[in-house]
Amino acid sequence: MENEVVSKNFIEQIIEKDLAEGRCDTVCTRFPPEPNGYLHIGHAKSILLNYGLAQKYHGKFNMRFDDTNPTKEKTEFVEAIQDDIKWLGADWEDRLFFASNYFEQMYEAAVKLIKKGKAFVCDLSAEEIREYRGTLTEPGKNSPYRDRSVEENLELFENMKNGVYQDGEKVLRAKIDMASSNINMRDPVIYRVAHLTHHNTGDKWCIYPMYDFAHPIEDAIEGITHSICTLEFEDHRPLYDWVVRELEYEKPPKQIEFAKLYLKNVVTGKRYIKKLVEEGSVDGWDDPRLVSIAALRRRGFTPESIKMFVELCGVSKSQSIVDYAMLEYCIREDLKLKRPRLMAALDPVKLIIDNYPEDQMEELEIENNLENEALGKRKVPFGRELYIDREDFMENPPKKYFRLFPGNEVRLMGAYFVKCVDYKKDETGKVIEIHCTYDPETKCGTGFTGRKVKGTIHWVAAKTAIQAEVRLYENLIDEEKGVYNEDGSMNLNPNSLTVLKNCYLEPNFAGAKAYDSFQFVRQGYFCVDSHDSKPEALVFNRIVSLKSSFKLPKPE
Ligand code: ATP
Ligand code: MG
Repeated sequence: MENEVVSKNFIEQIIEKDLAEGRCDTVCTRFPPEPNGYLHIGHAKSILLNYGLAQKYHGKFNMRFDDTNPTKEKTEFVEAIQDDIKWLGADWEDRLFFASNYFEQMYEAAVKLIKKGKAFVCDLSAEEIREYRGTLTEPGKNSPYRDRSVEENLELFENMKNGVYQDGEKVLRAKIDMASSNINMRDPVIYRVAHLTHHNTGDKWCIYPMYDFAHPIEDAIEGITHSICTLEFEDHRPLYDWVVRELEYEKPPKQIEFAKLYLKNVVTGKRYIKKLVEEGSVDGWDDPRLVSIAALRRRGFTPESIKMFVELCGVSKSQSIVDYAMLEYCIREDLKLKRPRLMAALDPVKLIIDNYPEDQMEELEIENNLENEALGKRKVPFGRELYIDREDFMENPPKKYFRLFPGNEVRLMGAYFVKCVDYKKDETGKVIEIHCTYDPETKCGTGFTGRKVKGTIHWVAAKTAIQAEVRLYENLIDEEKGVYNEDGSMNLNPNSLTVLKNCYLEPNFAGAKAYDSFQFVRQGYFCVDSHDSKPEALVFNRIVSLKSSFKLPKPE
């Protein structure tokens, strides 16, 4: 089509060129997390990118745990990571892999390099290796062990494997170029001795491959065509290419880097999220104030909203910082038409309709979502005593306040006009009762046109109200101070969590289950908390308020 503007991101352009030139005939991507923490919003970007490319080009997407470093790995994380990826909707079918299942092949690969004269066992200590490495401006020096014979290297490497040496006593290094301008190419360590128990292989191995050596081998074994990673690996690409070339893989994978996703004033980065969890600053990895995938899910974000967000962010090579408001925009957009809008009084105050019969209750039919008729209508009980939100009444209102105040008339949403005739306060001066009269003629839906009111407020009938807890969230970080201090500590906002214990909800909330979400009329979107909510004592998390300062950027 001539006029169709198809904008492809730079990775799609590379893939299409590779397909066109026959460098590959299919596309295979992977997501390779280290199981040392929970995944976060940045990982979601990488997952959806890799999965999306596999789908777009009718290829395959693999799930692979990059578990070559036994120190920090835990089975808890292995399970949580799989749950999160499934929830996001990325499907690895039957291709769930563990890098540790390739240890044998990695060992063989190292032996192959030794035999080719491309790797040697080195006795220098970690500190000496660092000294010999040189700097950005000075070349390095060859290790005195660099010219060991192939036979000697084979024997020493086998000894390394057989547990003859202590941790750190010997390493295997690639023999590349100590004068390379790229420090990663200065005879990098590819295997180390570490007497550690591994979560998958137990005590079978006491040598472990280094990331830069292991990763390209993992990719090559699985037939990955495009190995997508983040920019910090750009300088490692020559080593990646060296490994696949020297190991003579028939279809070498290609590494492509893109910029990490960062959110302004938000803690991403596993290391820092972990710190908050370990310090007890938050209630676990899925505390709704975090942006781990588990936390976003608990807060009430949907996979669709995260996908929309990631697509809006785009893929590029230049670092940028995205506003959290954009993520909020996406969840509002996603829930706007999908969820019913029910009434809740979060900071309730009683409203009594003096001229409404004492024991009478009636059921009003109210539209579930004015913007989406398909969600139907519901019955909402109405009676003499109601709860309304405290902010919907003022004794001495400023100009342009159109809600309740003495003498003013408003509409109770879906019900009648009421006029404030009186109010009572307790000894501290807090308003505890608002008295009104209603006009039966003004019932909603009867076509009353006699007069108009400027304000509509929501309400909940006291007799049938459900009491619930509602948790309101602000940024975990004090935005004035920024996230990090020089010593690595973080500036936390002391008001990031507000717990409202006595909220009243309309009875249609009964039966709400974990992860169900709703719009609370005029207040925002809320989600049933998966940890603490019980059928007889509902707990809700505020996902996001209704107001927004965020505007979608205009297309260029
Ligand atoms: P962190 O820096 O948060 O600890 P990581 O990069 O160490 O993350 P891994 O488990 O090693 O986490 O990463 C798995 C994949 O997710 C990698 O391909 C990595 O590049 C990608 N990834 C990690 N953080 C981000 C991010 N902020 N944006 C996009 N992709 C990311
Ligand atoms: Mg990492």
